Amino acid sequence: MNISNTILGYPRIGINRELKQAQEKYWAKKISQTELFKIGKKLRKTHWEQQIKLGIDLIPVGDFAWYDHVLSTTMMLGNIPKRHQYNNHIINIDTLFRIARGTAPTGPKTSASEMTKWFNTNYHYIVPEFIKNNTFQYQWTQLIDELDEAISYGYKAKPIVLGPLSYLWLGKIKGKHFDKLELLNNILPIYQLLLEKIKKRNIDWVQIDEPILSLDLPESWLNAFFYTYNFFNKNNKNNIILTTYFGDITHNFETIVNLPIQGLHLDLINCKSELYTLHKKIPKDWLLSLGIINGRNIWKSDLIYWFQKIKKIYNERKKIFLSSSCSLLHCPIDVQYEKKINTEIKKWFAFSVQKCHELFLLKNALKEDNIEKLVSWTQPIIERHQSNIVNDTNVQNRIKKNVLCIPKRYNKYYIRSLEQKKLLNLPILPTTTIGSFPQTNALRKIRMDFKNSKINQNIYNNEIKKIIKKNIEEQEKLGLDVLVHGEPERNDMVEYFGENLNGFTFTENGWVQSYGSRCVKPPIIIGDVSRKKDITVKLTKYAQSLTKKPIKGMLTGPVTILQWSFPREDISKEKIATQLALSLQDEVLELEKSGINIIQIDEPALREGLPLIKKEWEPYLKWAINAFKLSYYGVKDSTQIHTHMCYCEFNDFMNAITQLDADVITIETSRSDMELLEIFKKFQYPNEIGPGVYDIHSPNIPTIECIEQLLKKAINCIDINRLWVNPDCGLKTRSWDETKLSIKAMIQAAINIRNKL
Ligand code: GLN
Ligand code: ZN
Repeated sequence: MNISNTILGYPRIGINRELKQAQEKYWAKKISQTELFKIGKKLRKTHWEQQIKLGIDLIPVGDFAWYDHVLSTTMMLGNIPKRHQYNNHIINIDTLFRIARGTAPTGPKTSASEMTKWFNTNYHYIVPEFIKNNTFQYQWTQLIDELDEAISYGYKAKPIVLGPLSYLWLGKIKGKHFDKLELLNNILPIYQLLLEKIKKRNIDWVQIDEPILSLDLPESWLNAFFYTYNFFNKNNKNNIILTTYFGDITHNFETIVNLPIQGLHLDLINCKSELYTLHKKIPKDWLLSLGIINGRNIWKSDLIYWFQKIKKIYNERKKIFLSSSCSLLHCPIDVQYEKKINTEIKKWFAFSVQKCHELFLLKNALKEDNIEKLVSWTQPIIERHQSNIVNDTNVQNRIKKNVLCIPKRYNKYYIRSLEQKKLLNLPILPTTTIGSFPQTNALRKIRMDFKNSKINQNIYNNEIKKIIKKNIEEQEKLGLDVLVHGEPERNDMVEYFGENLNGFTFTENGWVQSYGSRCVKPPIIIGDVSRKKDITVKLTKYAQSLTKKPIKGMLTGPVTILQWSFPREDISKEKIATQLALSLQDEVLELEKSGINIIQIDEPALREGLPLIKKEWEPYLKWAINAFKLSYYGVKDSTQIHTHMCYCEFNDFMNAITQLDADVITIETSRSDMELLEIFKKFQYPNEIGPGVYDIHSPNIPTIECIEQLLKKAINCIDINRLWVNPDCGLKTRSWDETKLSIKAMIQAAINIRNKL
């Protein structure tokens, strides 16, 4: 039996986010290209050395990227959009950054390519663009260069290539519509060239990623898999490991097992079938790469469970790899750098370094047929089940009592809305904002100083109150109808709530790349969740005491908190969401009791939590919608519940949105020219809507005319009595000058329309 350890990719950012610093310095022209490349090379070397030290046999190459690996593939294929070309089409690192950011140290400024979420993760990629008859040429040699680099250090390397079908699927057609599969014949020769170059380097295995195999694919795309992999098989002699991850692939299994490939990687964390059953169906001579270590969460693995599963197939296969389920890109680097996490808790975690070590332990245990070391490794996670850090009987009893609860409002929207109109007395087209107001450097410093104990609670509270006071004064001056306190106390809309709930822990250095140079540090849900004490009540009440206008309380919804954290795995997501919802319910009811009549519960991540395949949507939506409704369950009819959703694909989502039964939903629409509202019209969405009337991601100030135009469009779709006027999203990243001018224009546009009625 032949068994090797590998992973699908290592985090590229560096333990101190060296890549981020380097990128940002280069963009600001503070370091040269040569210096930038030197830092990249050093990072790769360090990461390879670490993996070797941790017992990885086959080093992944191609996981490093200057922005994201889809963009690296775009560069390799020479698929440079016209507007990003410059200087006789010579491709260099600035071309790459220009595609990603619209600007680079050299060359013209232009609009960047779009960015979107990588499957169901919080990582983003730059969307490839295709035009009819798109041609490709092999241009960017990064992968081969890095392969040579790894070989020169004497490492056994496994190059990683994003497969042609996934690349095409993830891209977007520009201009006239056509079938993207028409481009397959143009793109395959480039891949062939690449595979030839790899073959020349005596490489044993090439990892070709085709994550789209976990999606629902049309027949034509499944056929294209046969076509593509037959083409590779005919023209190249490489050993290919077809690699899938993020979801179950049972629905596409027939296609996969009939492909002329030499190996298959399975994400066994997300696989619904049993390993032994799968193994029986997979050709015997194929290499099987077992993705058993979860690349997307921070918990230690149950290595004894895997030992037993793998042992059953161990002698029946020629060769297996032990691997991570997906790239470790989605996981922090090393838990040893966490100095503040309590040592009992720390023993439950495995970040990337510890995950590589897990593979090492498992391989040795299998080889020696001895689980002794696995027993001591998994001991803490077994003890965890009894830990009182995890278990809170009050929460558990409350959940039990809640099981039969079907959360809903007392009356239907049209009855509630009468009560609300009476209480709130708002004009037609009421104006409001999404919650946050500009966060200046001075404000960030106040929060930092408090966190680092440089200022005490009293001083901190007073400073925050001063900012709230200013926010209220500015909003009154501008003439908004529904005000907010402005969220000055929040660094992040999820972290802030996590910090005020039991059952969470936080890392100091648990950074994960989100996009380009942006990294996030998701909170970790370690135990039963409950509210420690009131979270937003005092500051919201304070804001309300400063004005006669209604203040809108501002909360992050249960699904978004769950979605943007590392969840526990010993209970279902449904249960975690329910615990979060009940904690938020306590807050909602207390806000209501304190005289706050409007409460917004943000759920921008509700849609992104959707499973990859349609047939799993229904169960997800059932619990996700329930959690949202549970978080406001018990409020009076006269209390107006808002929700906010950022940009969202609403086409197949209207049923879900309606079921949320928020009195008001605010959404991002300005960039789509109000087109989104057509769907709300078609679907006869019954409640109130605030379509964003200007784009807060841009520093441009919208004109009154432009907003009026958009509002007129909106009125054509939605009854004016159910329309609100607001920006697209929160204003925390904008400056005060931009904010004041934009809101002024927004309010004037609303007034102009009211006057014409
Ligand atoms: N209330 C949040 C804010 O205004 C909403 C942010 C979001 O939806 N992403 O910042
Ligand atoms: Zn938003």
